[in-house]
Amino acid sequence: MLVEPNRTGEMSATTTSKLRTGQRCGPRLATRVVICGGGVAGVEALLALRAHLKFATEVCLIAPNRQFVYHPLAVAAPFDLGETHLLDIAEIAAEQGADLYVDSLECVDAEERCVRLAGGTALSYDALLVAVGARRCDWLEGALHFAGAADVAAFRALLERFASGCEQRLTFVNPERVSWTLPLYELALLTAAHLADRGVIGAELTVVTPEAQPLEVFGPAAGPMLRGLLADRGIALRANTRAEKIQRGRLHLDTGSVLEVDQVVTLAQVAGLALPGLPSDALGFIPVDDHCRVAGLQDVYAAGDGTNFLVKQGGIATQQADAAAEAIAARMGAGVVPSPVRPTLRGMLLTGIAPTYMRAPLADATGGAFEAASDPLWWPPSKIAGRYLTPYLAAHDSFAGNVTGQGGPPAA
Ligand SMILES: Cc1cc2nc3c(=O)[nH]c(=O)nc-3n(C[C@H](O)[C@H](O)[C@H](O)COP(=O)(O)OP(=O)(O)OC[C@H]3O[C@@H](n4cnc5c(N)ncnc54)[C@H](O)[C@@H]3O)c2cc1C
Repeated sequence: MLVEPNRTGEMSATTTSKLRTGQRCGPRLATRVVICGGGVAGVEALLALRAHLKFATEVCLIAPNRQFVYHPLAVAAPFDLGETHLLDIAEIAAEQGADLYVDSLECVDAEERCVRLAGGTALSYDALLVAVGARRCDWLEGALHFAGAADVAAFRALLERFASGCEQRLTFVNPERVSWTLPLYELALLTAAHLADRGVIGAELTVVTPEAQPLEVFGPAAGPMLRGLLADRGIALRANTRAEKIQRGRLHLDTGSVLEVDQVVTLAQVAGLALPGLPSDALGFIPVDDHCRVAGLQDVYAAGDGTNFLVKQGGIATQQADAAAEAIAARMGAGVVPSPVRPTLRGMLLTGIAPTYMRAPLADATGGAFEAASDPLWWPPSKIAGRYLTPYLAAHDSFAGNVTGQGGPPAA
């Protein structure tokens, strides 16, 4: 049982003024967990908490977005192989017995164990999970930055120009400090397959990446596999190379060489939100330990792309959310022993033919534990592999979060 002196949530005069005059954390009876963020980590945490705590605890979900967005299938959309499917957050919250606030976290007052929302509401918490994701930022002027559903139309237009032969030289560039590079390789491979299917001759595709090997995040064994796939599609690779600028149709590289380009496609850079009341590193990310406890704050947890964990990836976000949910449930008296995050990467790479499923523990420096297969390595097969989220989405009739031609994953 969690013991907290200000369980009624009344605010001190000082905090009240910090929270805006007249705003108070309302009185309440049950212990309350507040989850901020209606994305991958937030929804996974909600499902995990309900699995551990059943309905004994009040859960509040703060989300500015009315729909849960499944980003990974945005890469399939320009090729008509899939769509960015959406699910109503209100539906998820209602099913899980959570109170939904369509609002944004503005600041945390850890001393008073309270959050303030942009709309002026103040909510006290017994445990807080911050899962607000990251900001995606453009970084290479003149390139098409692909960051999800909003960029599908632009990428479709690009494909048309290359399919008609108006443009021929297309370079895909990985940014620095972005470790989840899989979407860029998917765009390159799918583009090559798309152009080949249309009999387009003369297109020159290149991938430029700061990684020593493609898909380096999966360890040394993934590189040769990816190199083979790129070579089969006639895609040139420049590894260990950073793009510096685009000028008059030329892409300047840090190696001193220059590539003639008609178009450059890249992924967005990511930065943290640096919300007031939460610690953050130089890039705005929230520092967490391996139980996802936020450094220096009691009963505050964070999960997902907004944390300082190096790999910003959906599957990792769910593993962090699970660890945080276990730690919170244990604090609330549930009979669960919290385990630390032992990150395992799972990636479903769209290649234009059958997808390749890859799995590797992140701590494996030798690459010995890397697996790749054309049959699913986890079930239900999905782009984001989350213990609770994946079966939940697969069982949801209104969420067809699969790639065309792969068949609908049955519930586990
Ligand atoms: C094109 C693309 C392809 C990808 N492919 C894959 C893939 O194949 N496999 C994979 O595992 N991952 C993939 N990812 C990464 C994956 O989508 C992210 O890592 C994952 O969504 C991170 O989850 P999150 O909950 O941290 O952030 P998000 O899912 O972005 O959710 C953050 C949520 O917080 C909300 N929010 C923002 N600010 C506030 C605030 N102040 N208060 C409250 N809520 C707030 C947002 O509205 C959002 O709902 C891909 C990403 C992209 C862009």
